[in-house]
Order: sequence, then C-alpha cells, then structure tokens
Amino acid sequence: MLIEANRIVAVRPWKRFSLSERAAATDLGEVILLPGLINAHCHLDYTNMAGLLPPGRNFPDWIKTITALKSEWSYTDFAESWLNGARMLLRNGTTTVVDIEAVPELLPDVWAATPLRVHSLIELIGIRPTVTPRHLIADALKLIESLPAGRGGVGLSPHAPYTTTRELLSRSASAARRLHLPLAIHAAESGAEFEMFRRARGPMFEWFKTQRDCSDCGGVSPVQHLERSGVLGPRTLAIHANCLAPGDADLLARHRTHVVHCPTSHAYFRHEPFPLERLLRAGVNICLGTDSLASTQKPRGRKLELDLRCEMRTLAADRPGLAPAELLRMATVNGAAALGLRHRLGEISPRARADFIAVPHNGSVADAAEAVIHSEEPVAASMIEGEWAVSPAR
Ligand SMILES: [Zn+2]
Repeated sequence: MLIEANRIVAVRPWKRFSLSERAAATDLGEVILLPGLINAHCHLDYTNMAGLLPPGRNFPDWIKTITALKSEWSYTDFAESWLNGARMLLRNGTTTVVDIEAVPELLPDVWAATPLRVHSLIELIGIRPTVTPRHLIADALKLIESLPAGRGGVGLSPHAPYTTTRELLSRSASAARRLHLPLAIHAAESGAEFEMFRRARGPMFEWFKTQRDCSDCGGVSPVQHLERSGVLGPRTLAIHANCLAPGDADLLARHRTHVVHCPTSHAYFRHEPFPLERLLRAGVNICLGTDSLASTQKPRGRKLELDLRCEMRTLAADRPGLAPAELLRMATVNGAAALGLRHRLGEISPRARADFIAVPHNGSVADAAEAVIHSEEPVAASMIEGEWAVSPAR
C-alpha cells in the first residue's frame, strides 16, 4: 500500500514497488491489513457509566436511571468519559465513529485530544412547548458553525420519536437536507416505544402521556411516524430498528435509510430479535455500532470495552449463518455508505483516505476475516488520515 499525505495512492504486490519505494517502507510484520472499522453508533460521553446501570424492568426505567445519573455529572466527568471511550475505540480498531453528542460543548476540546475520525451528531431533545424546535435547531446549527474543522464531520440527531415532536423531527430533517448533513435517530428500539406509537399504551406511553402531546401516538409504527415526519432518507441512520410493523423494512429500503444494529446493547436490553433477515431481504444497508457502555453487560472475567469486534462476535453468535466477510462489510464499507463516504472510507483502495488497521495473524488468508473478528488484543497498528493513531512496535 502506497500512501501519500492522507490518501492511499496505490495497492499492489510488493514486487511491483520500485526500489526507492521499498526503501521507504514500513514493514508491519505478520498482520492482516484491513480498513479501519467504522462504528456507526456510539455515545462516547457515557463510557464511564460502564456497569453503573441495570437494564431495568423495562426500557423507560433505564432511561429514567440514566437521566438521573447524567444530572449528577459535571462537564469534566463527561469529557473524561468521552476521551476514555475514544481511546478504547482506537486500540480496538475503530478509526471512524458516528457519535451522538449530548454535551456538544465538549467538542472543541475533545476533538483536539484524539486522532479518531469523529462524526459528531448533535442530540436534540424537546417535548415541552416552552422549547421551540426552531430555537433548538438554530442553537445546534450555531454550535456546529462555531466548531473548528475536524477529521470527521457533524450532523444532527433528534434523539427518538418519543423525546421529540413531529415539528422537531421535520425541522431537523429539513435542516439536515439543506446543509447536506447526516441525521441519526434512535428508532423502534424497544417494545415499549412500539406500543406507544402503534397502540397508545404500555409503560412508555404511560410515562410520557403527561409530559408530551401524545396526539401523534396510536395507529402508526415508530418507522411510519418517522416517514410521515419526513425523517427517512439516504442521509438518515435509523439506530436499532428492532421492532418493525409489516411493511416497515420496505419503507426503510424505499427511502434508502441505513439501519445501525448494536448487538451487545440489544442483548443487554433483551429486545425482541433484531429483524436482520427481513431488512436484508428488503435491501436495507446494515451497519454496526457499539452504542454506549451504559447499556452493555460486563463480560465475565473481562473488562468492559467499546469494541466493534465484540459487536461482530455477538452478532455472529446470534446468527451463525452470517459469513465473517459479511460482518466485516457491516463494520466497514456499509458504515462508509451510511455517511455518504463510499470509496473514501471503509476500504483499502486507491483514492481512499489512509485509514487502516493491522491485526496480528499467522494463519492462512482464507481465515483472515474470521481472525479479525475473533481477535481480542489491541490492534498492532492503526493509521488515520495518513498518520499513526496507534504506532506499530519497532
Ligand atoms: Zn444510542
């Protein structure tokens, strides 16, 4: 692989490099070279909540607990947590992350402190009539405009159907379209959310009915609700999409909306089975995300880490028929497509950004994909934007 500045300019067999090119080479030893992993959904600022939250009786219980915990945290707590998460992702092979920012004031400081390629999507929550969607979005856009140029990008993330109004959703969607920004939303995550919108009942509906105007509930699935609010589209990442009504997979496919599956978070909440086959049959692009460590069960005898390889292993255990190469696509090229960055990220090819990782491997090439997924040690090297993010051992 020949790299100039921040790009890959050639990929060819060793013998076809000139003598001077060979003289300048860095030999990484016996490793698999592969594109840096793309984590399509994360909350870096919740990393240090690892192990602090029980899954609760139902999903609304968990949201109440995390909201209470967040109210006790300071700016420094969130910043340390964010940076701790960024370090975990780097050593575990992620080079690009789509991060939801609940505390966007951190961004100038934390962006400068990590080589990670971070696409920061500003979280928008608003169900009370006192906060107008127009103001919420104007504030988010003002903040985005004030940010320094980073290696990644920015975008908007209206939190979820139940923590937003139709007006907030449609205004976010049109602002994102106008400014060519990606938009991510937690969608159809829990049975409680599905019941709230489909049937206007259940624990989430009961909790929210005194807090928000619930005239948008009843008769629609969460995905239909998003479609009617203008949120679905080719720059939209629907996070989770666990609970689908008949026709929802086709609706997502028709709007070329990407779905982000977070296998360990899914297992933690014991949501109903992820409709992977239905979504694939409909032609939906599926990416993988770690979600946050606030919604991950501690593995026995091991540390809790943000690690996309662990997400691939969890999905592989759940769906043994899924080929390792397909899992790797979900963690690389599919994530790049969701960000509108196909051919630039998620692959090792001429003209792509120089983002790659090296995973130690002594076995055969045929076992490479499987070996990457099952590797648990930190990566041997990681390059982002043409610079070492994890330097190779000499
Ligand atoms: Zn999330």
